[in-house]
Amino acid sequence: MHPREQIISIANRIYQKGFTTSTGGNFSIRDESGDIWITPSGIDKGNLLEEDIVCLHRNGKTEGILKPSMELPFHKAIYQLRSDIKAIIHAHSASLVSFSIVRKIPDINIIPHLKKIVGPIGYAGYEQPGSKKLSANIAEEFSGGANAVIMENHGVVVGGESIIDAFVRFEALEFCAGVIIDANKIGDLQYPDDDLSVETDKGDYLTNLEFDVDAYSLEEEELRSTMLSIAQRAYEKGLILSNSGAISVRLHRNDFLITPADIPIFDLKNDDFVKIIDQKNKKGRGVNPQFALHGEIYRRNPHLNSIIQTQSPSIMPFCITATNLDVRTIPECWILLQDIPKVSYGSYINDYCQLAAMFSAGKNAVIIQNNSIVLTGDSLLSTYERLEVADLSARSLISSAHLGDMVPMEKQQIRELRKRFLS
Ligand code: 13P
Ligand code: ZN
Repeated sequence: MHPREQIISIANRIYQKGFTTSTGGNFSIRDESGDIWITPSGIDKGNLLEEDIVCLHRNGKTEGILKPSMELPFHKAIYQLRSDIKAIIHAHSASLVSFSIVRKIPDINIIPHLKKIVGPIGYAGYEQPGSKKLSANIAEEFSGGANAVIMENHGVVVGGESIIDAFVRFEALEFCAGVIIDANKIGDLQYPDDDLSVETDKGDYLTNLEFDVDAYSLEEEELRSTMLSIAQRAYEKGLILSNSGAISVRLHRNDFLITPADIPIFDLKNDDFVKIIDQKNKKGRGVNPQFALHGEIYRRNPHLNSIIQTQSPSIMPFCITATNLDVRTIPECWILLQDIPKVSYGSYINDYCQLAAMFSAGKNAVIIQNNSIVLTGDSLLSTYERLEVADLSARSLISSAHLGDMVPMEKQQIRELRKRFLS
């Protein structure tokens, strides 16, 4: 894709996700020749046309009918300092603005999986938008190794190897900030142990790869289409991040299809789902690291046909506090989820078999502290419904925190629900 198209596509995504107002923020790409492509100043970012994008040639000449962003100085300064950065996103997204106005950096150590995506975060003191001083403050943080910088009383600036890479990083950081804000409404933050702060690589399961050139059966083709539509639906509803959850569906026996590790959901196509056969990746390409857990769940539970492991915005606050996600809220929630146990992050990292065994004991949802929720079902749609319902329950619990004490349904009412709907 041409840099103009890439910028427009990411600008539309950022605007649709509510990560910027129509005129706030700016986005740029440095191409292989060293030219910088950047959004125009003061123009509606939800409605950009290719000809609106301004190009700053290496030779200093500007090409375009509109004025380049007023923040061009800091974009240029970052590119000058960091040859690895090829794209920059600056936005005033709500949760990161909240941090910037209380002059704090979100502590992403609380979700190690996202910390890996975001990397080091810097903090730039306030200066006027578009000023040289602002540019200097931001550039200093990037030269110190930051990949994202909170701008005091302003917003955030994020760099990446590509515009998609910068977007995935920005999305993860904004998400993390929102989760920390909501978690503070329901309990004290619980950090993982220091020695587990970076998830160990499950690379040992990625050896012995075989290449599979088999054509798909009609059944597999249909499963791939269903997976794609559910993955996109979950993404559009904000129930999964573009590049960090895992969705899988059983094919035959213990073989299954799973989302790839290296393609964001918004770019997925039917062919991209990876086929795992007898716990080996037959396509020989970027497998999702969570696949060992998925494989073990399928192996132990012949009745389960799909798994969604995700970070959703309202469930995550329950993953980073000791507060339970108590679904005795309304009949729908309790019938679909019952009690949702929690396992520690350490036990997931060190022994995922133990976690897989919990699903054999009749559980369909388990929270992994500081990581995610894992949901299962007999079909992908039923698993997805569980996710929607779990996130809704979590959202109402968070919203009710300042209204009064939650009054769960009574034991007798739960017994009646169990008798009528679950036996
Ligand atoms: P531009 O429209 O000039 O890019 O400015 C938007 C902005 O966010 C300034 O900080
Ligand atoms: Zn700005």
